[in-house]
Amino acid sequence: MNLNINNSKILLDYLTEKTNNPIITLTKDLRIDQYNKAFEKLIDESEHIYNSFFEKTVGKLEVYSEKSIDENHVIKEISASYRSKSGSVTHLQGTLIKKIDETVIIFKNFMINESQIIDEISKMNIEMSNLTRELSKKNFQLKLANEKITKLLNTDFLTDLYNRKHFFERLEELVSLKKRKDCLNIGIIFADIDFFKTINDTYGHDTGDLVLIKFSQMLKESLRKEDIIARIGGEEFCIIVQCGTDNCLTNISEKLRKNCESMIFDNIDIKLTASFGATFYRVGEEIDSTIKRADENMYKAKDTGRNKVIFSL
Ligand code: GH3
Ligand code: MG
Ligand code: MG
Repeated sequence: MNLNINNSKILLDYLTEKTNNPIITLTKDLRIDQYNKAFEKLIDESEHIYNSFFEKTVGKLEVYSEKSIDENHVIKEISASYRSKSGSVTHLQGTLIKKIDETVIIFKNFMINESQIIDEISKMNIEMSNLTRELSKKNFQLKLANEKITKLLNTDFLTDLYNRKHFFERLEELVSLKKRKDCLNIGIIFADIDFFKTINDTYGHDTGDLVLIKFSQMLKESLRKEDIIARIGGEEFCIIVQCGTDNCLTNISEKLRKNCESMIFDNIDIKLTASFGATFYRVGEEIDSTIKRADENMYKAKDTGRNKVIFSL
């Protein structure tokens, strides 16, 4: 582009006012003579800059490089730091064109204002810490929601015991652990409430539900925290206890049987009993075989009079 500015005064004025580059003209003794809108924006409104010395109003001129165009024109690359009355500092860089009786400075458009940067950074910091706070709040809520979902997935809604799905997951975990290292024996106790249908038929389904809830509470109270207690069917329960000896497993089962027998209900006069089948997981066998053996033992208990424990290895 080759612009003949002598013939383009209107264009030059237009550009001078429209540009975002601050432009200033100085007198021979470096007093401010004229300036465009961009420069005006840069300077404190309260500043009376017209006819003031540039270096006093704006700042000391630092010259980086200098070259003469002809005997009347020198071009210098300059910088200056303008400190406003409020204390904010703007670093200016630009090109100074010195003529015999006039000087023009065209500043670059990137003006770095320290206090603006500090303001921006602190705004960003506040925003960041708000976001972080919001994020950790959401993470916490998500964690709670996940825990709730996991609990729902693993829990029997009526009794709050583990459900069938979770029971088999935990049993599989323990079995694979047992295969890898010789830890405690995995004892399985199958429990089925005796004549539960009669309770439903006599007192109604809601009472039947309450009996299931109380029976579950009894199981929880009778066993240790680390034992896995699940409701795997209507009035059928399965328990995993890790214990070393046959005696230990039969003793636990017997304790459950007795505790069931001595349960007292508020509004109904019943003697609740349950039949128990117990066995150990044998290393190398399918889990189904262990469950089947425990189930068969429980049925043996039913067939031989109920309210008893049958154990077999
Ligand atoms: P047995 O001594 O042979 O085990 O007899 P039982 O009556 O306990 O066994 P049966 O299998 O004949 O009946 C179980 C009953 O449990 C039938 C069913 O309606 C009831 N049941 C299953 N789930 C629930 C439940 O969630 N709430 C209630 N109230 N009853 C249930
Ligand atoms: Mg039953
Ligand atoms: Mg049953």
